[in-house]
Amino acid sequence: MIEITKSNIEKAIAKARITKPLVKVLEFRRYQVTNKTTGATYEVKFSKINNTKYAECNCKATVICYHIGASIGAHIVLAEQMHTATA
Ligand SMILES: [Zn+2]
Repeated sequence: MIEITKSNIEKAIAKARITKPLVKVLEFRRYQVTNKTTGATYEVKFSKINNTKYAECNCKATVICYHIGASIGAHIVLAEQMHTATA
């Protein structure tokens, strides 16, 4: 698991905007990200411990990769919907 910071996630989102991978929601906090060019598929998971956000991806990157950057947009929308639903 890698801690999400403002700077590492911004870089990952910027890279995702260029590569534009396909993001599919598997369940809340679990996403499948497909590289449209190579067809490679990775799984991204988000977790939150004591108000710190973490992410992990099963690709070979050991940093917040663009798969995580691509998923977080969908994740933020879903998390807000869940929050609204429980409020
Ligand atoms: Zn990745």
